[in-house]
Amino acid sequence: MPHIFCVANQKGGVGKTTTTVNLAASLAARQQRVLLIDLDPQGNATMGSGVDKQSAEQTVYEVLVGTVPIRDAIVRCEAAGYDVLPANRELAGAEVELVTFDKRERRLRDALAKIANDYDFILIDCPPALSLLTLNGLCAANGVIIPMQCEYFALEGLSDLVNTIKRVNGNLNRDLREIALLRVMFDPRITLQQQVAEQIKQHFGSKVFDAVIPRNVRLAEAPSYGLPGVVFDKSSRGARAYNDFSAEILKRYGASKAPALSEMQ
Ligand code: ADP
Ligand code: MG
Repeated sequence: MPHIFCVANQKGGVGKTTTTVNLAASLAARQQRVLLIDLDPQGNATMGSGVDKQSAEQTVYEVLVGTVPIRDAIVRCEAAGYDVLPANRELAGAEVELVTFDKRERRLRDALAKIANDYDFILIDCPPALSLLTLNGLCAANGVIIPMQCEYFALEGLSDLVNTIKRVNGNLNRDLREIALLRVMFDPRITLQQQVAEQIKQHFGSKVFDAVIPRNVRLAEAPSYGLPGVVFDKSSRGARAYNDFSAEILKRYGASKAPALSEMQ
């Protein structure tokens, strides 16, 4: 079974998509078979992988409502060597349409069951809300990566997200066992950010990845070229940090094996 991670945070602009796209590309560069699922109607991860969201006719939306088999909707990000299940604004409608469906929060999970063994890692880029789409992501995943900025209000809202994850674990998906925080957009010149970064580590311990992603303009420029930052400029500080992060992910979870029970909690 692959590792299936949601990259989630109900705040917008905190680095979810940048993290998903760069982790996907970096794991692919480490010979992992990776599927990126764009679960945000904004389609930023789709575009950031070089896939044109406007012309994508078979997307995660059709997969969720059941009109297209998942295999038919998956496309390849050639430049970075991973697969993409694209999204565009049509996906916003799924939220309403799925309400009438039976087991509406398990649609993605059921679709993934058919292809899961084709991959070592499946990374799900969630929208900035604790919505039915995010719920579909959490029901399909066995871990959650929460990107957070090292700012004073960074922890605000975290308890809502963690409570949602716990509720999903209790009621809908016993396999959802891992939660870990990734510190992103870090600026070491700002004392407050240093302090907050250290406090997050002290407080949450092993639930915080050691890798810290710096604020780096090359990461922000890459999507306009349809490339993940780690492909766009391999030697940039941002790319190097995401490569450290993917190494840490492989070390923590190994390639393509379920997290050990001792890692629960
Ligand atoms: P989200 O998916 O959570 O809304 P994004 O990944 O789209 O967040 O990031 C929001 C904005 O910040 C984007 O313009 C992105 O390019 C930029 N960004 C993200 N991470 C970094 C970083 N480490 N350094 C510089 N810019 C970043
Ligand atoms: Mg996003």
